[in-house]
Amino acid sequence: MIGAVILAAGSGKRMGTTVPKQHMTLKGKPLYMHSVDAFLPMVSSIVVVAQQDRVPEVEKELSGSRYQGRVSVCAGGEERYDSAYAGLKCLETLGDFEYVLIHDAARCNVKADVIFNVIRDMKAYGAAVAAVPEKNTVKQANAEGFVEKTLDRTKLWEIQTPQGFLKAHLMEGYEAFFAAPVDGITDDASILEAYTAYPVKLTMGSYGNIKVTTPEDVALLTNGRI
Ligand code: C5P
Repeated sequence: MIGAVILAAGSGKRMGTTVPKQHMTLKGKPLYMHSVDAFLPMVSSIVVVAQQDRVPEVEKELSGSRYQGRVSVCAGGEERYDSAYAGLKCLETLGDFEYVLIHDAARCNVKADVIFNVIRDMKAYGAAVAAVPEKNTVKQANAEGFVEKTLDRTKLWEIQTPQGFLKAHLMEGYEAFFAAPVDGITDDASILEAYTAYPVKLTMGSYGNIKVTTPEDVALLTNGRI
């Protein structure tokens, strides 16, 4: 069985709106709901992780018959990793899931082919992350804002979500992380990299699978340009 955790508990400060970005309306529904609808045909259960004070609102929005018994809502935490772990713990109360997909609600333009590819690779390799080859030249800077060096673009991938894992492996990593936390954990694959020896497969994502961060991103999606 595959479960999905959709992370929608961020504050979305960079958007500069009063409503956090994941709750903004896009094409007639809350932004986070686009991800719920994309994952629903692909997994058995979904946990949406929302800010504590928004849990009742999200529960209400997801009370329709198509979500009944398939989608649960739980409260997130201070950091993304707190929310991911809260979602994983909630998923564990719903059943015995061998695999879990974690997805940022902010990537509301995710399509079925990317989810399908991550599921395929997660089953083949134990862990897989959606990613796209880097198109830009990327330079490393020093603290004064001067170039230190140019990184080898042929080896660089931009990491997206969904990220899929054998749940037991991810839980093993998260438990080690909370026992002895390190900085720089900005996605779930980082947990496997830092605390386990399990390999993580890079699965071809999509350049249109953007993380909505600024008003320009919303405009791109609203105009149908991606
Ligand atoms: O902050 P960032 O853009 O990396 O957030 C990625 C995703 O994680 C977003 O969908 C956001 O809502 C979610 N998040 C969360 N809990 C937090 C921080 C971020 O669910 N404490």
